[in-house]
Amino acid sequence: MSHTYRLVVGGELATAASGETFDSIDPSTGEPFATVAKAGSEDARKAAEAARKAFDEGPWPGMKGRERAAALLKVADMVKQNSAALAELEARDAGHTIRMAKGADIGMVISTFRVFAELAAKENDEAPLARNPGSMNYARYEPIGVCVGITPWNFPIQMAAWKIAPAIAAGNTIVIKPATYTPLTTLEIGRLCLEAGIPEGVVNVVAGSGAAVGEALVASPMVDKVAFTGSTEVGRRIMELASSNIKKCTLELGGKSASIVLDDVDMDYAVDGALWGVFFHNGQVCSAGTRLLVQRSIADPFVAELTKRAEAIRVGPALDPASDEGPIVSETQLETVERYVGIGREEGADVLTGGERAVVEGHDGGFYFQPTVLGNVKSGMRVSQEEIFGPVLVIIPFEDEAEAVRIANDSVYGLAGGVWSGDNSRAIKVAEQIRTGTVWINDYHMINPRYPFGGYKQSGIGREHGEFGFNEYREIKHIHVDLGGPSRARHPWWDLTVPKREKPSPPGPERPGSKPSG
Ligand code: NDP
Repeated sequence: MSHTYRLVVGGELATAASGETFDSIDPSTGEPFATVAKAGSEDARKAAEAARKAFDEGPWPGMKGRERAAALLKVADMVKQNSAALAELEARDAGHTIRMAKGADIGMVISTFRVFAELAAKENDEAPLARNPGSMNYARYEPIGVCVGITPWNFPIQMAAWKIAPAIAAGNTIVIKPATYTPLTTLEIGRLCLEAGIPEGVVNVVAGSGAAVGEALVASPMVDKVAFTGSTEVGRRIMELASSNIKKCTLELGGKSASIVLDDVDMDYAVDGALWGVFFHNGQVCSAGTRLLVQRSIADPFVAELTKRAEAIRVGPALDPASDEGPIVSETQLETVERYVGIGREEGADVLTGGERAVVEGHDGGFYFQPTVLGNVKSGMRVSQEEIFGPVLVIIPFEDEAEAVRIANDSVYGLAGGVWSGDNSRAIKVAEQIRTGTVWINDYHMINPRYPFGGYKQSGIGREHGEFGFNEYREIKHIHVDLGGPSRARHPWWDLTVPKREKPSPPGPERPGSKPSG
């Protein structure tokens, strides 16, 4: 009998209003292994209502930053205490290799809650503004209200932390909707938030479809802000729905990032780095370096070595510590990856390695694909322009830095990228010309909750992490205090004590400093 995971609504673990459930599939086996309460639009409404009530009437928004920080630190501690169970759950639900789940996922969740606890504890809610004769002015940060977080299937527990931690650190309340393929660890984080003493209604989790639950939340008049990570296509729909009551939106969308290898590079190091850049979590990563641009003078030996090492990557079940790559998240995504390899072949690309489903002994029903490298690719091809979200690397040679930058920027996306070179100043010159939100030099995937992450162009709007990300969850209010007192000169054009005919004709003498406007 599999465990049934319940929704988190208004401080309670709840079944769905309809009583319906759905199965969660283990992508390593293709078999169902857990049952989940299936939220619908009624549950979305209840969750939004609970979050609204907690914001309007509850203690959370008015608490001191350091009190909220203490609660976030408690969540981080509870994640640490439960790390083994959470890592195993992520491996089974999302196909993360157990090495990655333990090493990368849980660590990132803990540090995200800790970094936002630090930011909340700074008590930097008020900031003085430039001096102005006659008035005192300051800016005050306040929470936005009810936030909705909609997250994808590629990094479920990390995405839950990326949305919950900044939202509640800033004093908001949140309803989070995880992807249908991978709801379990988000439901568990919601439950741990309750156990950590976060007041009821501050963190709510509803697992259900994007069409029913996602749309109901994004359209709800009770919601003030939406933070979404997922495809650019759904990002467009979110913007449309959010426009109904002008919700604030942060969107982290697709990518087709370039990893640029210059000819002065340490080949051994950069080959491994480029493979890590693309094949980390099977390429199911928005910022993956899926286009490898290699300087032509070193392209042949570089690609030969890279192809050889790609063949050494061990594809296997997520729970096996020997697996370098686990399964693709779902049968549907596996078919998408397969289809794109076919498109590449039709466009004239050469499959240098991989290109087929991988066979994993004893796991016939699992969704495995071989790490795949495509050569003879031109920048205009679909495999070079469209997000595949699987273990597929395309290789494009270039002559010089100017051409590398031109190809790297030949994309509707602008999320991330990498430059590999033995000369940091040469690499920095290239990095500064790439139109993306992040560029790593001689490394890849180094996301840190202290530094901003987000996209240019169709990769999104706004930033996550650090002060930049924190401010996406805060309103800023300007307070102006007049210091002149009743004796000061009145507004010359609005002095009701002066008889009409004696009023000076505009424009009268101005008081120093601010002018009314609107
Ligand atoms: P989606 O963008 O469809 O899904 C992301 C999240 O949005 C999920 O929680 C989904 O719910 C929800 N959602 C879907 N439709 C709506 C809607 N109309 N209103 C509100 N919420 C909605 O990604 P997919 O899972 O379908 O993946 C498709 C492609 O998107 C991938 O192949 C990849 O290219 C890209 N992608 C990008 C990611 C990134 O990190 N930038 C992450 C995941 C995918 P539900 O799960 O129920 O559909």
